[in-house]
Amino acid sequence: MKPSPIKKLLLAGAGHAHIGMLRQISDASLDTSDIDICLVSEQTQTIYSGMLPGWMAGHYQLDDISIDTKSLCARAGVRFIQQAITQVHAASNTVVTDGNDMSTGDETLADDKALALDYDVLSLNTGADTDIRWLESLAGVIAIRPLSAFITHWQQILADAQQSDNYQLAIVGAGAAATELVMAAQVALQHINNNHQVTLVCGKQLLSGFNARFQERVIRQLHRHGIKIVYERAIDYRNGHLSTTDDSLPMNAVIAATGVVGAAWTINTDLQTVDKGFVAVNNLQQSISHPNVFAVGDVATRVDKEVAHSGVHAVHGGAVEDDNLFAYLKGESMQEYQPKARTLYLLSCGDKYAIASWGDWSLQGRGLWYLKRYIDKRFVKSYL
Ligand SMILES: Cc1cc2nc3c(=O)[nH]c(=O)nc-3n(C[C@H](O)[C@H](O)[C@H](O)COP(=O)(O)OP(=O)(O)OC[C@H]3O[C@@H](n4cnc5c(N)ncnc54)[C@H](O)[C@@H]3O)c2cc1C
Repeated sequence: MKPSPIKKLLLAGAGHAHIGMLRQISDASLDTSDIDICLVSEQTQTIYSGMLPGWMAGHYQLDDISIDTKSLCARAGVRFIQQAITQVHAASNTVVTDGNDMSTGDETLADDKALALDYDVLSLNTGADTDIRWLESLAGVIAIRPLSAFITHWQQILADAQQSDNYQLAIVGAGAAATELVMAAQVALQHINNNHQVTLVCGKQLLSGFNARFQERVIRQLHRHGIKIVYERAIDYRNGHLSTTDDSLPMNAVIAATGVVGAAWTINTDLQTVDKGFVAVNNLQQSISHPNVFAVGDVATRVDKEVAHSGVHAVHGGAVEDDNLFAYLKGESMQEYQPKARTLYLLSCGDKYAIASWGDWSLQGRGLWYLKRYIDKRFVKSYL
Protein backbone atom coordinates (compact mmCIF):
# COMPACT_ATOMS: atom_id res chain seq x y z
CA MET A 1 0.00 0.00 0.00
CA LYS A 2 1.24 3.51 -0.82
CA PRO A 3 2.17 5.47 2.36
CA SER A 4 0.06 8.62 2.84
CA PRO A 5 2.02 11.80 2.07
CA ILE A 6 3.34 13.90 4.95
CA LYS A 7 1.22 17.04 5.42
CA LYS A 8 2.70 20.31 6.64
CA LEU A 9 0.93 22.05 9.53
CA LEU A 10 2.27 25.53 10.26
CA LEU A 11 1.43 27.15 13.59
CA ALA A 12 1.93 30.93 13.69
CA GLY A 13 2.15 32.51 17.16
CA ALA A 14 2.33 30.84 20.56
CA GLY A 15 -1.04 31.88 21.92
CA HIS A 16 -3.37 29.73 24.02
CA ALA A 17 -4.48 27.36 21.24
CA HIS A 18 -0.97 26.49 20.17
CA ILE A 19 0.56 25.98 23.60
CA GLY A 20 -2.49 23.83 24.42
CA MET A 21 -1.84 21.77 21.31
CA LEU A 22 1.85 21.34 22.17
CA ARG A 23 0.87 19.99 25.59
CA GLN A 24 -1.59 17.54 24.01
CA ILE A 25 1.04 16.32 21.55
CA SER A 26 3.53 15.78 24.43
CA ASP A 27 0.86 13.85 26.36
CA ALA A 28 0.33 11.74 23.22
CA SER A 29 -3.36 12.65 23.30
CA LEU A 30 -3.20 13.88 19.68
CA ASP A 31 -2.28 11.62 16.79
CA THR A 32 0.31 13.55 14.75
CA SER A 33 1.46 10.70 12.52
CA ASP A 34 2.06 11.79 8.90
CA ILE A 35 1.99 15.46 9.97
CA ASP A 36 5.07 17.69 9.95
CA ILE A 37 4.44 20.47 12.49
CA CYS A 38 6.36 23.73 12.77
CA LEU A 39 5.66 26.62 15.16
CA VAL A 40 6.88 30.13 14.38
CA SER A 41 6.70 32.68 17.18
CA GLU A 42 8.55 35.88 17.94
CA GLN A 43 9.38 34.94 21.53
CA THR A 44 10.62 31.77 23.26
CA GLN A 45 8.37 32.54 26.24
CA THR A 46 4.62 33.20 26.35
CA ILE A 47 3.68 35.64 29.12
CA TYR A 48 0.40 34.73 30.84
CA SER A 49 -1.61 37.97 30.81
CA GLY A 50 -3.92 36.90 33.66
CA MET A 51 -0.97 37.07 36.06
CA LEU A 52 0.70 40.18 34.63
CA PRO A 53 -0.98 42.63 37.07
CA GLY A 54 0.05 40.34 39.95
CA TRP A 55 3.66 40.46 38.71
CA MET A 56 3.49 44.27 38.48
CA ALA A 57 2.16 44.46 42.05
CA GLY A 58 5.02 42.26 43.26
CA HIS A 59 3.09 39.06 44.03
CA TYR A 60 4.87 36.96 41.38
CA GLN A 61 8.30 36.58 39.84
CA LEU A 62 8.66 36.74 36.05
CA ASP A 63 9.23 32.97 35.93
CA ASP A 64 5.85 32.42 37.65
CA ILE A 65 3.99 34.08 34.75
CA SER A 66 6.05 32.72 31.82
CA ILE A 67 5.39 29.59 29.77
CA ASP A 68 8.43 28.20 27.99
CA THR A 69 7.28 27.71 24.39
CA LYS A 70 10.71 26.56 23.23
CA SER A 71 10.76 23.69 25.74
CA LEU A 72 7.15 22.77 24.96
CA CYS A 73 8.07 22.46 21.27
CA ALA A 74 11.12 20.35 22.09
CA ARG A 75 9.01 18.01 24.23
CA ALA A 76 6.36 17.73 21.51
CA GLY A 77 8.91 17.15 18.73
CA VAL A 78 7.69 20.28 16.95
CA ARG A 79 10.17 22.44 15.01
CA PHE A 80 10.45 25.92 16.53
CA ILE A 81 11.40 29.06 14.61
CA GLN A 82 11.87 32.25 16.60
CA GLN A 83 10.69 34.94 14.23
CA ALA A 84 7.65 37.17 13.76
CA ILE A 85 5.40 36.55 10.79
CA THR A 86 4.91 39.63 8.58
CA GLN A 87 2.88 38.35 5.61
CA VAL A 88 0.41 35.57 4.87
CA HIS A 89 -0.14 34.72 1.19
CA ALA A 90 -3.01 32.31 1.44
CA ALA A 91 -3.35 31.94 -2.34
CA SER A 92 0.11 30.38 -2.51
CA ASN A 93 0.08 28.74 0.98
CA THR A 94 3.05 30.80 2.16
CA VAL A 95 3.91 32.73 5.31
CA VAL A 96 6.78 35.23 5.34
CA THR A 97 8.77 36.07 8.49
CA ASP A 98 10.65 39.24 9.47
CA GLY A 99 14.16 37.80 9.46
CA ASN A 100 15.07 39.57 12.68
CA ASP A 101 17.86 37.81 14.48
CA MET A 102 16.28 36.74 17.76
CA SER A 103 19.35 34.75 18.74
CA THR A 104 19.36 33.68 22.35
CA GLY A 105 22.80 32.15 22.03
CA ASP A 106 21.23 28.85 21.07
CA GLU A 107 22.14 28.31 17.44
CA THR A 108 19.27 25.88 16.91
CA LEU A 109 16.84 28.71 17.60
CA ALA A 110 18.40 31.58 15.71
CA ASP A 111 17.04 32.20 12.20
CA ASP A 112 18.45 35.50 11.05
CA LYS A 113 17.02 35.78 7.58
CA ALA A 114 13.47 36.29 6.36
CA LEU A 115 11.87 32.95 5.59
CA ALA A 116 9.08 31.93 3.24
CA LEU A 117 7.39 29.01 4.96
CA ASP A 118 4.99 26.87 2.98
CA TYR A 119 2.15 24.84 4.45
CA ASP A 120 -0.77 22.57 3.68
CA VAL A 121 -2.71 23.85 6.68
CA LEU A 122 -2.05 27.08 8.57
CA SER A 123 -3.19 27.96 12.10
CA LEU A 124 -2.99 31.59 13.22
CA ASN A 125 -2.78 32.34 16.95
CA THR A 126 -0.66 35.51 17.08
CA GLY A 127 -2.94 37.60 19.28
CA ALA A 128 -3.69 41.23 18.41
CA ASP A 129 -2.13 44.67 18.83
CA THR A 130 -3.10 47.44 21.24
CA ASP A 131 -5.47 49.95 19.66
CA ILE A 132 -3.56 53.26 19.79
CA ARG A 133 -5.40 54.92 16.91
CA TRP A 134 -6.60 57.59 19.38
CA LEU A 135 -3.07 59.01 19.49
CA GLU A 136 -2.62 62.08 17.27
CA SER A 137 1.10 61.40 16.94
CA LEU A 138 3.15 58.29 17.46
CA ALA A 139 4.38 59.61 20.78
CA GLY A 140 6.13 57.68 23.54
CA VAL A 141 3.05 55.89 24.82
CA ILE A 142 3.73 52.39 26.13
CA ALA A 143 1.36 49.82 24.63
CA ILE A 144 0.36 46.91 26.83
CA ARG A 145 0.90 44.58 23.86
CA PRO A 146 3.19 42.87 23.05
CA LEU A 147 3.45 41.79 26.68
CA SER A 148 7.13 40.86 26.31
CA ALA A 149 8.00 44.48 25.42
CA PHE A 150 5.74 45.80 28.17
CA ILE A 151 7.69 43.77 30.75
CA THR A 152 10.85 45.76 29.91
CA HIS A 153 8.95 49.07 29.95
CA TRP A 154 7.47 48.33 33.37
CA GLN A 155 10.90 47.53 34.80
CA GLN A 156 12.09 50.91 33.45
CA ILE A 157 9.08 52.70 35.02
CA LEU A 158 9.95 51.20 38.42
CA ALA A 159 13.60 52.21 38.01
CA ASP A 160 12.58 55.79 37.08
CA ALA A 161 10.12 55.93 39.98
CA GLN A 162 12.94 54.99 42.36
CA GLN A 163 14.75 58.16 41.23
CA SER A 164 11.72 60.46 41.53
CA ASP A 165 9.97 62.24 44.43
CA ASN A 166 6.66 62.50 42.61
CA TYR A 167 6.17 60.06 39.74
CA GLN A 168 2.98 60.46 37.71
CA LEU A 169 1.73 57.55 35.61
CA ALA A 170 -1.43 57.44 33.48
CA ILE A 171 -3.15 54.31 32.22
CA VAL A 172 -5.52 54.87 29.32
CA GLY A 173 -8.30 52.30 28.95
CA ALA A 174 -11.74 51.41 30.21
CA GLY A 175 -11.82 47.62 30.24
CA ALA A 176 -11.16 45.04 32.93
CA ALA A 177 -7.47 44.77 32.02
CA ALA A 178 -6.99 48.56 32.37
CA THR A 179 -8.57 48.59 35.85
CA GLU A 180 -6.41 45.64 36.99
CA LEU A 181 -3.29 47.31 35.62
CA VAL A 182 -4.05 50.66 37.27
CA MET A 183 -4.54 49.09 40.72
CA ALA A 184 -1.40 46.96 40.36
CA ALA A 185 0.58 50.02 39.25
CA GLN A 186 -0.68 52.14 42.15
CA VAL A 187 0.27 49.44 44.69
CA ALA A 188 3.76 49.10 43.16
CA LEU A 189 4.47 52.83 42.86
CA GLN A 190 3.13 53.71 46.30
CA HIS A 191 5.32 50.96 47.71
CA ILE A 192 8.27 53.00 46.40
CA ASN A 193 6.98 56.43 47.48
CA ASN A 194 3.60 57.56 48.83
CA ASN A 195 3.75 60.68 46.63
CA HIS A 196 3.68 58.62 43.44
CA GLN A 197 0.29 58.64 41.75
CA VAL A 198 -1.47 56.64 39.06
CA THR A 199 -4.36 58.11 37.03
CA LEU A 200 -6.91 56.16 34.99
CA VAL A 201 -8.09 57.97 31.85
CA CYS A 202 -11.14 56.01 30.74
CA GLY A 203 -13.47 58.09 28.56
CA LYS A 204 -17.14 58.36 29.49
CA GLN A 205 -17.82 54.75 30.46
CA LEU A 206 -15.80 52.35 32.58
CA LEU A 207 -16.25 48.56 32.17
CA SER A 208 -19.08 48.66 29.65
CA GLY A 209 -20.39 45.16 29.08
CA PHE A 210 -20.14 44.27 32.79
CA ASN A 211 -23.11 44.47 35.14
CA ALA A 212 -23.73 47.70 37.08
CA ARG A 213 -23.03 46.15 40.49
CA PHE A 214 -19.64 44.90 39.29
CA GLN A 215 -18.81 48.36 37.90
CA GLU A 216 -19.66 49.95 41.28
CA ARG A 217 -17.50 47.44 43.13
CA VAL A 218 -14.50 48.15 40.88
CA ILE A 219 -14.92 51.93 41.16
CA ARG A 220 -15.01 51.63 44.96
CA GLN A 221 -11.73 49.69 44.87
CA LEU A 222 -10.16 52.34 42.61
CA HIS A 223 -11.17 55.00 45.18
CA ARG A 224 -9.86 52.85 48.05
CA HIS A 225 -6.44 52.88 46.37
CA GLY A 226 -6.59 56.68 45.88
CA ILE A 227 -6.48 56.32 42.08
CA LYS A 228 -7.56 59.40 40.15
CA ILE A 229 -10.19 58.66 37.52
CA VAL A 230 -10.49 61.04 34.57
CA TYR A 231 -13.69 60.47 32.59
CA GLU A 232 -12.34 62.01 29.39
CA ARG A 233 -10.84 60.67 26.20
CA ALA A 234 -7.07 60.75 25.89
CA ILE A 235 -5.91 62.34 22.65
CA ASP A 236 -2.15 62.60 22.64
CA TYR A 237 1.00 62.47 24.73
CA ARG A 238 3.95 64.71 24.03
CA ASN A 239 6.52 66.76 25.96
CA GLY A 240 5.53 65.02 29.18
CA HIS A 241 1.85 66.02 28.92
CA LEU A 242 -1.15 63.80 28.26
CA SER A 243 -3.83 65.75 26.41
CA THR A 244 -7.41 64.77 27.05
CA THR A 245 -10.57 66.26 25.57
CA ASP A 246 -10.59 68.96 28.31
CA ASP A 247 -7.22 68.97 29.99
CA SER A 248 -3.47 68.56 29.83
CA LEU A 249 -2.03 66.30 32.53
CA PRO A 250 1.69 66.23 33.35
CA MET A 251 2.80 62.58 33.19
CA ASN A 252 6.13 60.80 33.47
CA ALA A 253 4.75 57.86 31.50
CA VAL A 254 1.54 56.75 29.82
CA ILE A 255 0.41 53.15 29.31
CA ALA A 256 -2.23 52.32 26.68
CA ALA A 257 -4.57 49.42 27.48
CA THR A 258 -7.15 50.56 24.99
CA GLY A 259 -8.53 47.38 23.46
CA VAL A 260 -7.24 45.52 20.44
CA VAL A 261 -6.86 45.93 16.68
CA GLY A 262 -5.75 43.30 14.19
CA ALA A 263 -2.12 42.17 14.36
CA ALA A 264 0.27 44.26 12.24
CA TRP A 265 0.88 41.41 9.76
CA THR A 266 -2.81 41.44 8.71
CA ILE A 267 -2.03 44.49 6.53
CA ASN A 268 -0.05 42.08 4.33
CA THR A 269 -2.48 39.29 3.66
CA ASP A 270 -5.00 38.14 1.09
CA LEU A 271 -7.04 36.44 3.83
CA GLN A 272 -10.42 38.04 4.36
CA THR A 273 -10.34 40.31 7.41
CA VAL A 274 -13.10 42.25 9.13
CA ASP A 275 -13.58 45.10 11.52
CA LYS A 276 -10.17 46.47 12.56
CA GLY A 277 -8.06 43.86 10.75
CA PHE A 278 -9.13 40.60 12.39
CA VAL A 279 -9.07 37.36 10.39
CA ALA A 280 -12.68 36.50 9.53
CA VAL A 281 -13.57 32.97 10.68
CA ASN A 282 -16.67 30.80 10.80
CA ASN A 283 -18.02 28.73 13.71
CA LEU A 284 -15.26 26.12 13.11
CA GLN A 285 -12.56 28.82 13.54
CA GLN A 286 -11.84 28.39 9.83
CA SER A 287 -11.04 31.31 7.52
CA ILE A 288 -14.10 32.25 5.45
CA SER A 289 -11.89 32.94 2.42
CA HIS A 290 -9.34 30.08 2.58
CA PRO A 291 -10.55 26.75 4.10
CA ASN A 292 -7.04 25.42 4.83
CA VAL A 293 -6.39 28.40 7.16
CA PHE A 294 -7.67 28.48 10.75
CA ALA A 295 -7.44 31.33 13.26
CA VAL A 296 -8.37 31.63 16.91
CA GLY A 297 -8.02 33.96 19.89
CA ASP A 298 -7.53 37.71 19.60
CA VAL A 299 -6.30 37.48 15.98
CA ALA A 300 -9.70 36.29 14.73
CA THR A 301 -13.28 37.51 14.62
CA ARG A 302 -16.25 35.16 14.24
CA VAL A 303 -18.54 36.38 11.46
CA ASP A 304 -21.62 34.42 12.54
CA LYS A 305 -21.87 35.69 16.13
CA GLU A 306 -20.30 38.16 18.51
CA VAL A 307 -17.54 36.56 20.57
CA ALA A 308 -15.38 38.85 22.72
CA HIS A 309 -11.62 38.95 22.24
CA SER A 310 -10.58 37.42 25.56
CA GLY A 311 -8.31 34.80 27.05
CA VAL A 312 -11.27 32.62 27.97
CA HIS A 313 -12.37 32.30 24.32
CA ALA A 314 -8.76 31.91 23.17
CA VAL A 315 -8.44 28.89 25.50
CA HIS A 316 -11.84 27.25 24.83
CA GLY A 317 -12.03 28.18 21.15
CA GLY A 318 -8.40 27.11 20.87
CA ALA A 319 -9.17 23.60 22.11
CA VAL A 320 -11.89 23.23 19.46
CA GLU A 321 -9.64 24.72 16.77
CA ASP A 322 -6.84 22.27 17.67
CA ASP A 323 -9.20 19.32 17.12
CA ASN A 324 -10.52 20.84 13.90
CA LEU A 325 -7.03 21.26 12.46
CA PHE A 326 -6.32 17.55 12.82
CA ALA A 327 -9.82 16.60 11.64
CA TYR A 328 -9.32 18.78 8.54
CA LEU A 329 -5.90 17.25 7.85
CA LYS A 330 -7.40 13.74 8.11
CA GLY A 331 -10.56 14.55 6.16
CA GLU A 332 -12.78 13.99 9.20
CA SER A 333 -15.73 16.11 10.32
CA MET A 334 -15.09 19.23 12.39
CA GLN A 335 -16.95 20.67 15.38
CA GLU A 336 -18.36 24.09 16.12
CA TYR A 337 -17.00 26.28 18.93
CA GLN A 338 -20.02 27.22 21.05
CA PRO A 339 -19.01 29.93 23.51
CA LYS A 340 -20.76 29.82 26.88
CA ALA A 341 -23.29 32.62 27.43
CA ARG A 342 -21.56 33.68 30.67
CA THR A 343 -17.91 33.51 31.64
CA LEU A 344 -16.33 33.98 35.05
CA TYR A 345 -14.04 37.01 35.31
CA LEU A 346 -11.86 37.40 38.40
CA LEU A 347 -10.45 40.91 38.57
CA SER A 348 -7.47 41.43 40.87
CA CYS A 349 -7.34 44.70 42.82
CA GLY A 350 -3.60 45.24 43.22
CA ASP A 351 -3.33 43.99 46.77
CA LYS A 352 -4.61 40.53 47.74
CA TYR A 353 -8.22 41.29 46.93
CA ALA A 354 -10.39 40.42 43.93
CA ILE A 355 -13.84 40.95 42.43
CA ALA A 356 -15.73 38.24 40.55
CA SER A 357 -18.23 38.77 37.74
CA TRP A 358 -20.45 36.07 36.23
CA GLY A 359 -23.37 37.31 34.19
CA ASP A 360 -25.50 39.54 36.45
CA TRP A 361 -23.80 38.23 39.55
CA SER A 362 -20.76 39.72 41.34
CA LEU A 363 -18.85 39.19 44.58
CA GLN A 364 -15.67 40.51 46.17
CA GLY A 365 -13.19 39.59 48.87
CA ARG A 366 -9.72 38.34 49.77
CA GLY A 367 -10.73 34.72 49.30
CA LEU A 368 -11.40 35.43 45.61
CA TRP A 369 -7.85 36.67 45.17
CA TYR A 370 -6.56 33.36 46.53
CA LEU A 371 -8.97 31.51 44.25
CA LYS A 372 -7.65 33.49 41.27
CA ARG A 373 -4.08 32.76 42.32
CA TYR A 374 -4.88 29.03 42.58
CA ILE A 375 -6.52 28.94 39.11
CA ASP A 376 -3.76 31.02 37.48
CA LYS A 377 -0.89 29.06 39.04
CA ARG A 378 -2.51 25.76 38.09
CA PHE A 379 -2.83 27.01 34.50
CA VAL A 380 0.84 27.96 34.18
CA LYS A 381 2.00 24.81 36.02
CA SER A 382 0.12 22.64 33.55
CA TYR A 383 2.74 23.69 30.98
CA LEU A 384 5.82 22.84 33.06
C1 LIG B 1 -3.22 42.80 31.60
C2 LIG B 1 -4.18 41.87 30.92
C3 LIG B 1 -4.94 41.00 31.69
C4 LIG B 1 -5.85 40.15 31.07
N1 LIG B 1 -6.59 39.31 31.85
C5 LIG B 1 -7.50 38.50 31.26
C6 LIG B 1 -8.30 37.63 32.07
O1 LIG B 1 -8.18 37.60 33.29
N2 LIG B 1 -9.22 36.83 31.43
C7 LIG B 1 -9.36 36.85 30.05
O2 LIG B 1 -10.19 36.11 29.51
N3 LIG B 1 -8.61 37.66 29.27
C8 LIG B 1 -7.68 38.48 29.84
N4 LIG B 1 -6.92 39.31 29.05
C9 LIG B 1 -7.04 39.20 27.58
C10 LIG B 1 -6.12 38.07 27.11
O3 LIG B 1 -4.79 38.38 27.44
C11 LIG B 1 -6.15 37.86 25.59
O4 LIG B 1 -7.46 37.85 25.14
C12 LIG B 1 -5.47 36.53 25.24
O5 LIG B 1 -4.14 36.51 25.69
C13 LIG B 1 -5.49 36.26 23.76
O6 LIG B 1 -4.86 35.02 23.57
P1 LIG B 1 -4.34 34.56 22.16
O7 LIG B 1 -4.23 33.08 22.25
O8 LIG B 1 -5.15 35.11 21.07
O9 LIG B 1 -2.89 35.18 21.95
P2 LIG B 1 -1.82 35.82 22.90
O10 LIG B 1 -1.95 35.35 24.31
O11 LIG B 1 -1.83 37.29 22.64
O12 LIG B 1 -0.47 35.19 22.33
C14 LIG B 1 0.00 35.50 21.02
C15 LIG B 1 1.36 34.84 20.80
O13 LIG B 1 1.79 35.03 19.47
C16 LIG B 1 3.09 35.61 19.43
N5 LIG B 1 3.11 36.54 18.30
C17 LIG B 1 2.54 37.77 18.25
N6 LIG B 1 2.73 38.32 17.03
C18 LIG B 1 3.43 37.42 16.32
C19 LIG B 1 3.92 37.40 14.99
N7 LIG B 1 3.74 38.42 14.14
N8 LIG B 1 4.60 36.30 14.57
C20 LIG B 1 4.79 35.26 15.39
N9 LIG B 1 4.35 35.24 16.66
C21 LIG B 1 3.66 36.28 17.11
C22 LIG B 1 3.26 36.30 20.77
O14 LIG B 1 4.62 36.42 21.12
C23 LIG B 1 2.47 35.37 21.69
O15 LIG B 1 3.27 34.28 22.07
C24 LIG B 1 -6.00 40.17 29.65
C25 LIG B 1 -5.22 41.05 28.88
C26 LIG B 1 -4.31 41.88 29.51
C27 LIG B 1 -3.49 42.82 28.66
